[in-house]
Amino acid sequence: MIPTRFDYVAPTSVEDALSALAEAGDDAKIMAGGQSLLPVLRMRLNAPELVIDLGKIESLRGVRDDGDAIVIGAMTTHHEVLHDPLVNEHALLVARAVHDLADAQIRHRGTFGGALAHADPAGDLGAPVAALGADFVIAGSGGTRTVSADDFFVDIFETAIGEDEILTEVRIPKHTGWGAHYEKFVRIAHQWSIVGVAAAVKSDGSTISDARIGLTNMGSTPIRARGVEAGLAGAEATESGVQAACDRATEGTNPPSDLNGNADYRRHLAGVLTRRAVLKAAHV
Ligand SMILES: Cc1cc2nc3c(=O)[nH]c(=O)nc-3n(C[C@H](O)[C@H](O)[C@H](O)COP(=O)(O)OP(=O)(O)OC[C@H]3O[C@@H](n4cnc5c(N)ncnc54)[C@H](O)[C@@H]3O)c2cc1C
Repeated sequence: MIPTRFDYVAPTSVEDALSALAEAGDDAKIMAGGQSLLPVLRMRLNAPELVIDLGKIESLRGVRDDGDAIVIGAMTTHHEVLHDPLVNEHALLVARAVHDLADAQIRHRGTFGGALAHADPAGDLGAPVAALGADFVIAGSGGTRTVSADDFFVDIFETAIGEDEILTEVRIPKHTGWGAHYEKFVRIAHQWSIVGVAAAVKSDGSTISDARIGLTNMGSTPIRARGVEAGLAGAEATESGVQAACDRATEGTNPPSDLNGNADYRRHLAGVLTRRAVLKAAHV
């Protein structure tokens, strides 16, 4: 289908984008890479009168070092994130998840901020950024505010970003030297996660000294598996050593049932995939 008629602007600064947003109110829609927005418009699930394209705002692009965190601009493409040296050195888990996200074409157009703002529970970026304790910087007419990952994801396709606000960047605390793995379960290549597990592990010899675990598609938002994290601290990095902790992967989850699998199947997957992800992150 063809989208309904809309006006289009491509401001070159966040301030101009916010002004356009404030002027149009509910009738405007932000566009980042357009990979999720355009299908929505073409299916006429949304019919904005104005599309505000962030593609010309250079300040929203790129990755920078900011002391104990790296900062990823909202308009940085998945491809750029995947190959960025800072991401690979300090937030390897993010690179691992982006590697498994969609196909090369979509990774060249889709953006880090767009995917997180879209907040699809099956999206692959929520779990790793939640696991690493990221903060989200959101700009509005009154200035910027910072929201923790725990508060950013509100519900299916719903985040803390207000209708008159723009996500500008994501701050990820450095996890330098941590092993990382994203275990994504799909039926066919390039599919959205049926279940995904993001694991970052700090090892001390053969012992896990610290761990961060996030779950994809095990509820309406990404879930930080804190029970698993607590159980892994001090565990031997062996199949049997991590088993009890990984059995806690379903704590606090509320997985959906759909054509790809029912909730019980997803719970089973969560335990199996968590064990695999942790052992691979610990290089076992
Ligand atoms: C065929 C296909 C397969 C895919 N497979 C996967 C997959 O396996 N895993 C996965 O995680 N994703 C997958 N995706 C989605 C991909 O990650 C998209 O890039 C992402 O969902 C949207 O990013 P975007 O930059 O294109 O945002 P857009 O489509 O432009 O925007 C998405 C939504 O976010 C809002 N938005 C965007 N940027 C901002 C901002 N800075 N501030 C406030 N609101 C904003 C928009 O208004 C819109 O509502 C797939 C997409 C397609 C088309």
